[in-house]
Amino acid sequence: NKQIILRDYIEGSPKETDMTLEVAKINLNIQPRSSPSSSGGAVLVKNLYLSCDPYMRGRMRNFHGSYIPPFSPGSVIEGFGVSKVVDSDNENFKIGDIVTGMTGWEEYSLIHKTESLRKIQSDDIPLSYHLGLLGMPGFTAYTGFYEVCCPKKGEYVFVSAASGAVGQIVGQLAKLHGCYVVGSAGTSQKVDLLKNKFGFDDAFNYKEESNIDAALKRCFPQGIDIYFDNVGGEMLDAVLLNMRTHGRITVCGMVSQLTLSYSEGLKNVYMLIPKRIKMQGFIQSDYLHLFPQFLKHIIDNYKQGKIIYIEDMNEGLENAPSALVGLFSGKNVGKQVIRVAHS
Ligand code: NDP
Repeated sequence: NKQIILRDYIEGSPKETDMTLEVAKINLNIQPRSSPSSSGGAVLVKNLYLSCDPYMRGRMRNFHGSYIPPFSPGSVIEGFGVSKVVDSDNENFKIGDIVTGMTGWEEYSLIHKTESLRKIQSDDIPLSYHLGLLGMPGFTAYTGFYEVCCPKKGEYVFVSAASGAVGQIVGQLAKLHGCYVVGSAGTSQKVDLLKNKFGFDDAFNYKEESNIDAALKRCFPQGIDIYFDNVGGEMLDAVLLNMRTHGRITVCGMVSQLTLSYSEGLKNVYMLIPKRIKMQGFIQSDYLHLFPQFLKHIIDNYKQGKIIYIEDMNEGLENAPSALVGLFSGKNVGKQVIRVAHS
């Protein structure tokens, strides 16, 4: 059983050498079995697809004050996956079922915490989409946009890291809602995707702008009603200068700050007062009761061709560390996933 192990807690940006590939023996039958078979028993899965997500960097440091505990150095990295059940001691899952939920960065995983697993019903949507469009990132976009941004038709919406897993969905939901939407991204290829594939009204490459404030003023001469923040830092500070009265800043993530020991200070926070801006962070898992309606909304729109989805698929478990590292330099174009096995 090939496995990706976190060597030790890290500081700064993750590097491929922070992780190592090891091979361990695995028994492809669950033993010992609980008797009689119960809904609390374990399942053994073959991992087909694994997800690379920015929050995983947060789990690589020795910090216990977050909403999710750190990884254990010397242990297999955990993450969302799509997997096939190959043995089961749990009456809710049978051999051959395809499931998604928390699994390990390895070929086969023995999962005891089966509460996190959800069976995937077979349809014509690719299985890997359950790690993005129909999984945690898509759900983040859905809950962040509808529940936290409180959008109104005709409002001016700005999304950062806009071509990524969360951003591409947020922008398209905002367009479907009748908003004017601008995105920022870090390459001209991504800007082109935003404008010509995802249907954003405008987009800019923040790495090529000498003055972010000026870029925002160019794209939003009338100001911004909603900022869906995926990056924090300098971008957030510039957005604060360009918000409209009663605007909302939804803080989804701060990928630019994840690799720093301390968050950079913001100079323009005082703008919250004269502009009466509401700024709110959120965690998608607080809204899990909305998951069924999220799936219906996204699947309906996807099947009608109203939502486009782009993923960046890397082949092979051994390439998972470089894919994860790449999130922090913007190497991924779309949602980053790893194919571990075809079936
Ligand atoms: P992405 O697919 O967008 O990948 C990360 C992207 O971030 C990169 O491709 C890069 O895009 C951009 N980026 C990396 N480093 C920097 C930097 N220093 N400054 C600016 N941009 C940078 O990731 P996700 O869509 O999965 O996640 C987006 C955000 O949402 C993250 O902050 C994540 O932590 C957060 N999140 C929050 C959740 C919640 O419940 N609150 C749940 C899930 C995600 P580019 O080339 O455009 O710079």
